[in-house]
Amino acid sequence: MFRPHRDCLRASAEARRSTNSPPLVLTKANHVRQVGAGIQIPSNSTRLLSRLGLDPYLKEYVTEPEFISFRRWQSGGVIGLTRLVPNFREQFGSPYYVIHRANFHSALHKRALDLGVTVKVASRVVRYNVEGPRIVLANGETASADLIVAADGVKSVARGTVDKSGKPSFEKTGFAAYRATVDVERIKEDPELSWLLEKPALNIWLAQVWKDLRNRTDPFGRIGDQRHVMTYTIGAGKFFNMVLSHPDDSDPSTWDQENTLSDMRREFQGWDRRLEKIIGLIEESIKWPLISGVPLSRWVNGKVLILGDAAHAMLPYMSQGAAVAVEDGAALARSLSKIENAAGIPKAFRIFEQVRIKRAGMMQEASLLNGKLWHFADGPLQEARDAAMKPETIGLPFSHSPNQWSDPSTQLWCYGYDAEQEIDRAWTKSEP
Ligand SMILES: Cc1cc2nc3c(=O)[nH]c(=O)nc-3n(C[C@H](O)[C@H](O)[C@H](O)COP(=O)(O)OP(=O)(O)OC[C@H]3O[C@@H](n4cnc5c(N)ncnc54)[C@H](O)[C@@H]3O)c2cc1C
Repeated sequence: MFRPHRDCLRASAEARRSTNSPPLVLTKANHVRQVGAGIQIPSNSTRLLSRLGLDPYLKEYVTEPEFISFRRWQSGGVIGLTRLVPNFREQFGSPYYVIHRANFHSALHKRALDLGVTVKVASRVVRYNVEGPRIVLANGETASADLIVAADGVKSVARGTVDKSGKPSFEKTGFAAYRATVDVERIKEDPELSWLLEKPALNIWLAQVWKDLRNRTDPFGRIGDQRHVMTYTIGAGKFFNMVLSHPDDSDPSTWDQENTLSDMRREFQGWDRRLEKIIGLIEESIKWPLISGVPLSRWVNGKVLILGDAAHAMLPYMSQGAAVAVEDGAALARSLSKIENAAGIPKAFRIFEQVRIKRAGMMQEASLLNGKLWHFADGPLQEARDAAMKPETIGLPFSHSPNQWSDPSTQLWCYGYDAEQEIDRAWTKSEP
């Protein structure tokens, strides 16, 4: 089995059991390490990671935030509140974590090595052949396997092997994000900011009003609203992680990363003074295009299968892209665990595909929905949204909320979801 990259520890082990050949993970990267800043690991993912034996590998690196606060862009006042501790452990049986990506990646890597998986770096796959199945590497080497699982990200080479629809793979979202971290010591030093670190928490500042609706610009020359800032502490409390989302539908190849810091400061000028101060502490940042994959009707062609962002890229507004990729890995492993030998692979793939396409599509839609709910300009829609979130901020009962982290029915399907159980159900249904 070949698999560019991660998320698939159990799938590798199951593939070995059912096909009797050792798993091999290939990545084009020259080192196994992850750049970037923080990542949230929600309960639907921690449940599976724990079963995979990751707890001891993650323990010293994860932070468990107590709550998520949604805040007004200008004042920082709380408008929505999700209690994560103890609620998520109690309701969903698994915690909600945040972590530095590098730590997450190295935990997965170490666990894979301990499970006997071979990981080969500097191995760029340039072609997938369904017959065999077989891969061709950039250096001309070829290799075949019982099955190939490709998790080669948004710019997937494998997707073209599987999706023959000829339709575009992505829809333009019109959003981009600045990603950055700030040393928490610098925040602690400032009495106006230090309260943010009193308890581990996620804080999200939402949207912004247009000063002049007709011209869609404000005195700072920014266009529209559609902004938010997501923050939390990672690296065992050492770094304050920030994702600053804003509208930008220009071509990323035209972006001048040199101006990123000044552009970012301009974009968020006039926001909560405390947030502006923290933005002022950012020393470097990268700007990232935000895309959403168009739901695909196939993830499988013969014994080649795609998963993760290659199959279902999504806006990061539910913080679920990697979590759904972890689900993919666990679900594939579960499906492969049902077969006796390689002859069963097509059925295992078919059931995996049925279950996972539906699930990923729901998460893509929920992520797009947050792109609307979070970005109302000040006015009647924003007021209605904030009024609907009010009960959760003052401890009153509620049956629904535009905050999808709090909304009881979203919580159930999103965080209560057990990827392995869903595969079991689908297999039971498929049996005569
Ligand atoms: C701003 C932002 C915030 C986010 N926050 C969260 C969050 O809080 N929680 C969450 O769950 N998700 C989050 N996501 C989404 C998450 O980052 C992605 O969904 C996740 O990284 C996808 O993982 P992947 O393994 O499918 O692809 P990738 O992480 O893109 O990995 C692809 C791998 O394949 C390798 N590769 C690519 N092409 C080849 C090739 N031809 N040959 C060999 N190897 C190849 C690459 O080297 C790489 O290692 C966020 C995304 C963004 C942009």
